[in-house]
Amino acid sequence: MSDRDTATGVLGLVQAFVNTVDLQDGPEELTDPNTLQAWLVARRLLEPGAPVGDTDLKHAIALREAIRGLIAANAGGRVYPVDLATLNEAATRSHLRPRFGTDGKARLEPDATGVVGALGRIVAAVYAAMATPDWRRLKLCGSSTCRWAFYDRSKNRSSRWCTMASCGNREKARRFRTTHKHASAV
Ligand SMILES: [Zn+2]
Repeated sequence: MSDRDTATGVLGLVQAFVNTVDLQDGPEELTDPNTLQAWLVARRLLEPGAPVGDTDLKHAIALREAIRGLIAANAGGRVYPVDLATLNEAATRSHLRPRFGTDGKARLEPDATGVVGALGRIVAAVYAAMATPDWRRLKLCGSSTCRWAFYDRSKNRSSRWCTMASCGNREKARRFRTTHKHASAV
């Protein structure tokens, strides 16, 4: 999957979180509370040793899929109220509030600590990423079985697949088969 484009900064963090599962071929990176803890600690969103439980894992995966739903809107998809409710819940639970840093810039930071705070930092990253012009370049692969979050580097933001080599060609073949079937049925 090395040819799949990745973003950097807050956008890259959001993309990496959404892509902790490859819905099409696997694997799921967040299989248990320990792997979630390791993922959050590795990205400095969680202090090492902070406890992570099954409910936290459930919240994290719900948040991940809500963000995936949000990204779908960048390619004209519909945003579902259930996804917005999940995002709002995570923001409220972590008590996000604006903080002015020593660099003079404002950002959202959670008052909550532990994994609740860590998930709040991911919501804050979504918030910050949405304020950048590049947010609309973060898209979901057009293949309904893939839905990988990719960064569209094309000039006119017209890419539809995470990679043409895998999903683009697979989708083309699928369409060809469907057309062929219809043609022979007539
Ligand atoms: Zn794909």
